[in-house]
Formats: sequence, C-alpha cells, structure tokens
Amino acid sequence: MPETFKNFVGGRWTISRTGQTFENENPAIRGSNLGLFQSSGPDDIDEAIAVADAAFLAWRRTPLTERQQCVSAFLGLLKSSREELARIVTLENGKTLRESRAEVDSALVEGHYHLTQVSAFFGHTGPGAFRDITTWMQYQPLGIVGVISPWNFPMNVMCRKTLPALLTGNTVVFKPASFTPWSGVFMAGLFERAGLPPGVFNCVTGAGSSVGNRLVEDPRVRAISFTGSTEVGRKIQAQAARHLTRTQLELGGKNALIVMADADLDASLDAAVTAGFSNAGQWCTSTSRVLLQRPIAGAFLEKLVARCEKMTVADGTLETTDMGPVAGPQQYQDIRNAMCRAQTDGARMVAGGDAGVPADGYFIRPTVFAGVRYDMEIFREEIFGPVLAVSEFDSLDEALNVANDSIYGLSSAIYTRDVRAAQRYIDGIEAGLAHVNVHTGYKEPSMPFGGVKQSGAGLPENSDSGLEAFVSRKAVYLRG
Ligand code: NDP
Repeated sequence: MPETFKNFVGGRWTISRTGQTFENENPAIRGSNLGLFQSSGPDDIDEAIAVADAAFLAWRRTPLTERQQCVSAFLGLLKSSREELARIVTLENGKTLRESRAEVDSALVEGHYHLTQVSAFFGHTGPGAFRDITTWMQYQPLGIVGVISPWNFPMNVMCRKTLPALLTGNTVVFKPASFTPWSGVFMAGLFERAGLPPGVFNCVTGAGSSVGNRLVEDPRVRAISFTGSTEVGRKIQAQAARHLTRTQLELGGKNALIVMADADLDASLDAAVTAGFSNAGQWCTSTSRVLLQRPIAGAFLEKLVARCEKMTVADGTLETTDMGPVAGPQQYQDIRNAMCRAQTDGARMVAGGDAGVPADGYFIRPTVFAGVRYDMEIFREEIFGPVLAVSEFDSLDEALNVANDSIYGLSSAIYTRDVRAAQRYIDGIEAGLAHVNVHTGYKEPSMPFGGVKQSGAGLPENSDSGLEAFVSRKAVYLRG
C-alpha cells in the first residue's frame, strides 16, 4: 500500500479538505506509484495563507541572528539528508543519482551564500544632509511570499526562493510541482525539525490551476516567486497585476552555444554534452541550439554523435547511468512530437532513436538534429528534453543575430580563444547569463540568476537581488 503524504500547514501535518489525493509516478517505471499526495483545493491555500499571515508579525520581529540559526539548522539537516533526498529526487524526477546529489549540493552552496550575505545586506545607515537629521534606508520584509516551483529541480529551486524569503523576515506558502511533490513535503519536514515557528513555512500540494492560482490571486500574498514555463509565467504576471503583487519569474529558454573555428574542440564538445543532456535536457539553462562556425562543423558533429552513442540511458538509481528518463508521460510525448515535426520540417536526426533504451519508462536517447534552418520550429521553440538543434554559420555577427532572434534570453555560451570575439559576444548577446569557454548551465550563488525578454521578469535569483526580491525599501528620516 503506497504511503499517503500530508500538507504542512501552521506547523501541523494535515489532510486536504477536498479529501482527494493524487499519485506520484516514478518515470523509470511506467504505472508505478511512489505515494499518494494531497490534491488540495483553494480552501487549503486559504488556510495556509491565514496561518502565514498570523505568523508574519512575530517572524519579522525575530532577530536576524535567530532567523539565521533556523536556516542554519535547516541546512545542517539538508546536508545530513543528502543521500535520502537525492534518492527521492531521482525516484520522482528520473535524473541520475549523481545529478540529484549535485542538486542538493547546489542548494547547500546557495543556502550558505544567502545565510552569510543577509547580515551585510541589512546594514545601511548614514548621516543626513542636516546635522540634526539622521537618515537611513531600511529594508522591510514584504509579508507572505508564495513560492511555486517546477519539477526539474524540485528542491534546489524551492530553496533558492524560500531561504532568502525566510532570512529577510517573510513567511512562506510553498506549492511544489505535481510531478515532484515528495521532495517538497520532505523539505517541509526538514523545516519542522529545524525549529521554524508554526506558520512560518507551509507546504500545500495540489494542481497549479487550482491551488497555485489561488495563491497568486490572494491580495495578502505580497510576492510570488515562480519558476516554470513562460506560458504560466505570463498568466501569473497578469493575475498578480490586479493587486500589484510583486513577481519574480524565472521562465523558459532556448539557449545557444556558439562554437568558433578557433575553439578548443574537446572542451566545446564537453559543453554541448554536459549542458545538452544533463537532467535529460530538462533544465532552463540547458544548451538546445548549437551554432558551429563552418570550418569545424563536420568534425564537431562527428565527435558529438560518437559521444551520444556512448551514453548509457537507464534508470537514474543505477550508478552507471549517464542519462535517466524524462520526467513523465506528457513530457515524453511532447518531446517525441517535437522530434517528429523536426523531421517533417527537413532536419536530419544524426543521433537518437530507441535502440537500447529500457522499454518500461519514459526514456529518450540523446538526440542531435543537423542541417537545422533558423526558421525551423526545433530551432525556435523550447523543447525541454535531450535534443540538440545544430546549425552552421559564417561570421560571429551572423551567430549573434541568430542567437538573439528569439523570444527568450536566459543563458548562452561561446567557445573561442579570441578575446575580442569574446568581448563582442558579451556585449552583443541578449541573455541574462553570458559564458565564455564555460557551458550554458554553469552558475554561482554570488551571480544574479535570471533571464531577459520572455525568459524572466522581476529581480533575478541569487546574488544580492535574490534577497532584495523579498524586501521593500523604506527611507527613514529621524530628528531626535
Ligand atoms: P509549468 O509552468 O507548467 O509549472 C510550474 C509550476 O507552476 C508547477 O508547480 C505548476 O503546478 C504551477 N502552475 C501551473 N499552472 C499554474 C497557474 N495557473 N497558476 C499558478 N501556478 C501554476 O512548468 P513545468 O513544471 O512544466 O516546468 C518546465 C518549465 O519551467 C520549462 O518551460 C522551463 O524552461 C521552465 N523552467 C525555468 C527555470 C528558470 O530558472 N528560468 C528553471 C526550471 C524550469 P502543477 O505541477 O500542479 O501543474
């Protein structure tokens, strides 16, 4: 009998008022069930918002050092749960254990960054223009922050939003993605054990269209931090505008890797494989377009195909697996459909196919399309799977124009030994992240993480802006 998992609201484990649950499938085993999760409704979100509201006043007045102690305790528990949590992420998301461990490690690095950075962040004061007036700028927590996360990095993304929100004195209502509710509920257990006061952190599982929607439309929720598709991000932005609720939106991408003729070929191949196929290509900063300068295109493609053919695609829990399944049936079908349309459009599939993949899960081999024209759907639309669209170009100007001819602007990379080419690319690329001889998925917590154009809106995550996203600025003028 599968275990039934509960919501975490007001410091208690509760069942949904709807009385309904939903199943969580392991994508490596079709038809499996990892557990039953609460199929919550608007009433459950209303209750979570009410307790978060009640907890806010005391939490914002809790000294920063105490808030830091709670988050520090949480990070300690996260570290000691690394193996258990990584296994949960692999079971419900499909990625390999190595990738899941890396996700936990990334959450730890980012969490420690915010934990130490927040002390410096709050320290602004100064004398006023008049001798008897002292002025300072004071950050105020916003109130309740709604956190809505995707399934592709189910624990790291929620930590990157939740920890800065809590450290800056806000309370949180968290809605995990329905494909990966287990890691969300597991994290709620860690917050409970870390000693957070009741109501400060709440977790409600259920459908985005119901509980996610309710969270966004409630005027008591002062900010929504969302990661997911551009389509849902647009809806959230429009809905939040009704109450001028602040939004932090991290959305889709169609990230280009530009390889110049003078590049280190092996290093650029590593970049294409790592950023193209890690997490089965299901990450917002994955490489999905590879632009090759014509003189090296043939050699690069040949080696890329050979690398793809060597990769072991299997259950992510096996340590020998290079790439796990994609996250679920819908994702599997969407990717397969996009691959069929690419072939109909005239792109050549030079790596991929079904040979050697286990039949019982949602497995797709690393896939490469060559001869891709700039106007093809596979070159323009986000696929969110292990699929690379490869095109050739003559000049850097052409590559930049093509890379920028997209509604998205999240990440990008160039491989070259020419400093001037690198400089022109850094200036010209329309993206939130610009990498030179570093793959598109690389990031550090001290650097802002967010996109331009339709890849994101609001302040980026991480760096100072990751804290500032959850505070307002108050100008104080004091005459004693
Ligand atoms: P979705 O946008 O479908 O869902 C993301 C989250 O939003 C889920 O928790 C979902 O709930 C919820 N949701 C869905 N509809 C609504 C709604 N109307 N109101 C409020 N919440 C809602 O994206 P996916 O989960 O499919 O994630 C994949 C997408 O996320 C890709 O496009 C990818 O590019 C993007 N992404 C961006 C990242 C970035 O940092 N820029 C990082 C990771 C992913 P439910 O699961 O119940 O439907």
